Amino acid sequence: MSPNGPVLSQLIQGYWRIDNWNLTPQERLTFLKQHLDKGITTVDHADIYGDYSCEQLFGEALKLDKSVRNQIEIVTKCNIKLLSEKYPGRTVKHYDSSAKHIQFSVDNSLSRLGVEHIDILLLHRPDALMDADEVASVFTELQKAGKVKHFGVSNFTPQQFDLLQSRLNSPLVTNQVEINPLNFNVSEDGTLDQLQQYRVRPMAWSCLAGGRIFNGSDSQAQRLRVTLKEIKDEIGANNIDQVIYAWVRRFPSKPLAIMGSGKIERIESAIESLNFNLNREQWYKIWTASRGREVP
Ligand code: NAP
Repeated sequence: MSPNGPVLSQLIQGYWRIDNWNLTPQERLTFLKQHLDKGITTVDHADIYGDYSCEQLFGEALKLDKSVRNQIEIVTKCNIKLLSEKYPGRTVKHYDSSAKHIQFSVDNSLSRLGVEHIDILLLHRPDALMDADEVASVFTELQKAGKVKHFGVSNFTPQQFDLLQSRLNSPLVTNQVEINPLNFNVSEDGTLDQLQQYRVRPMAWSCLAGGRIFNGSDSQAQRLRVTLKEIKDEIGANNIDQVIYAWVRRFPSKPLAIMGSGKIERIESAIESLNFNLNREQWYKIWTASRGREVP
């Protein structure tokens, strides 16, 4: 992920939507083992997913086979506080990157997942009230206690990344950001440039725009689908999902795509996409279709 940083799988399984998959604990374990057998060893979580339920659902599956924990890398996140019946007394959704809340959140994640440590802990969102010195000291404590191995951020601007990094003893190992052909923000605001500069690999969330690329009725999504289909035929891919994953991987910062589907056939298809590479013109045809204009 970064110089001397952890090694993750080429694709990552996201568990944000696990509460919608309607699986029994045994079926969740089967799904996990299926993607594990195919080399997808890294899983992405957050404390808040499913109103604080998704880590628990995953943990229930892990408990059924204790040997699985050592074969996977767990990424999870903290610092968003949802309005939730589970935490009465909160009056507004907000961010909290205080040492107290980070400690509290990590302890809860460990207990819900039923594991001894988290491989990578991310600050989920930039927090205007984040005190970088305070975060640095709690990160050090968590590492010393063996609760967290590595740290990273999510949705941070380059300046926010640099601020936090300037106070830490160890390098941030990723910035997890939205990357898909409907959203060019991070390729234009310096985020991906910074990660390329530092040789830190982004984790890419919502590569398929949460499904909007397939079913969006807006003109941008419609234009994009036409071009994705043309390129699918050109490169001999099986579906446009594979073209999109190849498009995401084409960034020189080498993003690792997080898959959001709970269907194993879609995961298999995404794995096959690793065999497809887009040339420069194919990549820019997708850019052009999405923007509805040629590059300046
Ligand atoms: P995504 O892959 O863009 O979207 C997944 C959704 O698209 C699922 O509902 C899936 O439905 C649907 N889908 C996939 N292939 C499809 C197809 N061929 N046709 C129609 N629908 C299709 O990813 P995401 O779930 O939005 O995000 C992935 C992961 O990123 C999450 O699990 C989470 O771990 C992480 N994330 C992080 C942040 C952050 O702020 N850091 C934010 C959002 C997400 P099926 O399940 O039916 O296949």
